[in-house]
Amino acid sequence: SALVHGKEADWSMGDDAPPAFLSTLPRTLWDYCKQRFAQVTNPPIDPLRETHVMSLEVRLPATAAAPGGIVLPGPILTQGEFTDLAAQFGPVQTVDFSLPANTGVPGARGAVAQCSSTPLGGNARPGLFLLSDRGIGPERATLPALLATAALWKSMVRDGFSDVPLVVETAQAFDTHHIALLVAAGASAVVPHLMEQLAEAEEPGGMMKVRDAIYAGLRKVLARMGVSTLASYRNSYLFEIVGLSEDLCTEFFEDAADFAGQKSLDDLLADYLRLHKQAFSRVGEDMPDAGLYRFRKGAELHANSPEVVRRLHAHVKAPDAGKYPAFEELADGNGGVVFLRDLLETVASMPVPIEEVESAESILKRFSTQAMSLGSLSPEAHRTLALAMNRLGGKSNTGEGGEDPALWVNEPEAANKIKQVASGRFGVTSDYLVHAQELEIKMAQGSKPGEGGQLPARKVTPYIARIRHAVPGTPLISPPPHHDIYSIEDLAQLIHDLRAVNPRARIGVKLVSGAGVGIIAAGVAKAGADVITISGHNGGTGSSPLTSIKNTGLPWEIGLRETHETLVRAGLRSRLSLRVDGGLKFSRDILIGAILGADEFGFGTASLLAIGCVMARQCHLNTCPVGIATQDETLRARFSGKPEMVIAYFRALADEIRKKLAALGANSLTELKGAYDCLRPRSPNYAETPALALESNMDFRIAPQQVPGLHASLSEAHAPQDDFESDLRTVSIRNSDRSIGAALSGELARSRAAGRVSIPGIVKEFQGSAGQSFGAFLGSGIDFKLEGEANDYVAKGLSGGTIAITAGTGASRRGDVLAGNTVLYGATSGQLFVAGRAGERFAIRNSGALAVVEGVGQHGCEY
Ligand code: SF4
Repeated sequence: SALVHGKEADWSMGDDAPPAFLSTLPRTLWDYCKQRFAQVTNPPIDPLRETHVMSLEVRLPATAAAPGGIVLPGPILTQGEFTDLAAQFGPVQTVDFSLPANTGVPGARGAVAQCSSTPLGGNARPGLFLLSDRGIGPERATLPALLATAALWKSMVRDGFSDVPLVVETAQAFDTHHIALLVAAGASAVVPHLMEQLAEAEEPGGMMKVRDAIYAGLRKVLARMGVSTLASYRNSYLFEIVGLSEDLCTEFFEDAADFAGQKSLDDLLADYLRLHKQAFSRVGEDMPDAGLYRFRKGAELHANSPEVVRRLHAHVKAPDAGKYPAFEELADGNGGVVFLRDLLETVASMPVPIEEVESAESILKRFSTQAMSLGSLSPEAHRTLALAMNRLGGKSNTGEGGEDPALWVNEPEAANKIKQVASGRFGVTSDYLVHAQELEIKMAQGSKPGEGGQLPARKVTPYIARIRHAVPGTPLISPPPHHDIYSIEDLAQLIHDLRAVNPRARIGVKLVSGAGVGIIAAGVAKAGADVITISGHNGGTGSSPLTSIKNTGLPWEIGLRETHETLVRAGLRSRLSLRVDGGLKFSRDILIGAILGADEFGFGTASLLAIGCVMARQCHLNTCPVGIATQDETLRARFSGKPEMVIAYFRALADEIRKKLAALGANSLTELKGAYDCLRPRSPNYAETPALALESNMDFRIAPQQVPGLHASLSEAHAPQDDFESDLRTVSIRNSDRSIGAALSGELARSRAAGRVSIPGIVKEFQGSAGQSFGAFLGSGIDFKLEGEANDYVAKGLSGGTIAITAGTGASRRGDVLAGNTVLYGATSGQLFVAGRAGERFAIRNSGALAVVEGVGQHGCEY
């Protein structure tokens, strides 16, 4: 893809292969490292539309030949470029990290020791360090390039050479993730010599295309953490390591977050020697496909293997008593270890009669399908999932593409109870918001945290474009940040806005499992969320960059447990419900999720499998052979999914959960929450996995006591009215008056939907300084006039209303700044008139409102 399109490859359906530390195959060190990402506490940057605030430049120190220093446009050098550079930086001190293959692990350890002691090459201070594996060949193996880099960089810092450039020349670096890790571990620049050789052999000039693709990817890696420059990213250790031993992490990666495991340095070195042997035992032949991306017979395991698909399809197409257990059998390790939870099993206790166990209906209420947008899915598939979940008493989720308003009017039984509010704000109107039972703010997505959703152009048909207020045939890439959420306080403001429009809906916030997610969740709880979703790294996706799918996020088992425990410790756990998602399929997944703290459970891929998905993994290409993830009319006609298939799956799953609860001696899933004594390692070999150390001297069995008062009192405060009258008095407004107009708009939308109101228009006049979100989601038929000024987020999500702001008689000739930042964010219709100027990010993601303003700050009208 980098060669053909000059960009990173996209992929779909997430990562269902085991993480490196659970794999039985030798995996590279790159695979144990996950890129870190920002969520809530600091915003990611948009690397597409804010490129001008980013820089990949590498500044090298002054030399005799270049007294002003040298600036490289980026960290990747061709071999020729490096030769030119080295000539200016002599003397070059080379450290070879290849080693004689026949010396085995002891030899490899010796090579590590050599990298760990900075060579001085006589008494001259080196002008440049070159760490090289160019000697690699049939007789010479190599250390992991990342390990060698970390070792040498640590010793350079220790010995006072941190100002000397470190260039890593390696055959191991092939993609964005590799280059990013080397830079994060201290490399100034990388010479990926084998990649260059292959790219040029494929197409003259191919290396330049690949380099451009990797630079675009690198900007994404930096942006994911809100870092603008490569100089800030270098030596940042902004990655997390999963599954390497404590000793290994401490010795080489002490500044990276780690979730330690059992893989020791010797194990890792032995894996590299095995890989070397495999590679050079078949000279002239292609290496076998390890099956890391697609299922391949005899290669890497996949959770959604053909056998899993076949057995689930057999059950949902013609349910009978014998078929579902055959599907469940695959959960018990027959397929090997793919997930962290596969290392665990539940411990049977004194059973209880099944009649005493929580009903299937009660369990089904905890289930929802995860956010999959209309656009990503065909309208038929989207509707089928909603119908099924509503019949079951569960919930379906719109995803970030909005919803056809015709459903609320003509077919409410096919409307989604959970409506998502993502950074693109597609179709997010006051009408959309009031028709929800839950509003989910997507802060991050498991398959690509720190990035926005993406819908390829070929999927943006006229119908999808109408729902999303977009232009047909245009790719729709959502901003990585919500531009109205740059801090936890901003998130609290959006929760406040949404609750004002729809006080009856629960407000959810979706996070991704990663280092520190528990603390972030505590902030989200204090910001007023009713539900927090913890998504695993392996969540499905219609379309995401392949390197993001593989290299970001952690298993949900780690994030869920951390979140549950942090909320318990902070005394916040009873305030909200915790939902988990990421590859859930079997009853065992639900029980372990409940024990680790979940109240509710989200299903993405499993629900698609239930309506006929065959895991062709072409969702991003619009060529789904079974009409699920496509907008192509011919392929859509092939869709044969029925709500009954989804119902058959979830009912059988709920029944199975009941049986297992009875065997565990638990009356409900709630009883299991925090009951770590109900879990044990499935094999003594797994007992040492620190990520599974569940012993605790604190009791985490906290039952939820939802606080019902808040929603109830807000609902009453906005009880239906029979008439909405203009108030001709001018109301004084202060900056503590927030989200003014949102509640009125919500009530008006509800009343109109119920046929209760038909009014010519409501006019309200204000004087003073309006607080945040003045006129947020203002509905059609409402006119706001403000004499004074307004804070940030004026007309956020404007939905047909009209707002006029003027300084009145106090206006200055120079023009006053009368509105703050992020005005009209996500507006879909209506009008805004400002007789003065507005701040930054004016009318971002506006898809239909008219605006007249005398001047705006940076980033006006983007997207
Ligand atoms: S069958 Fe369709 S929905 Fe399933 S993975 Fe393939 S393309 Fe995606």
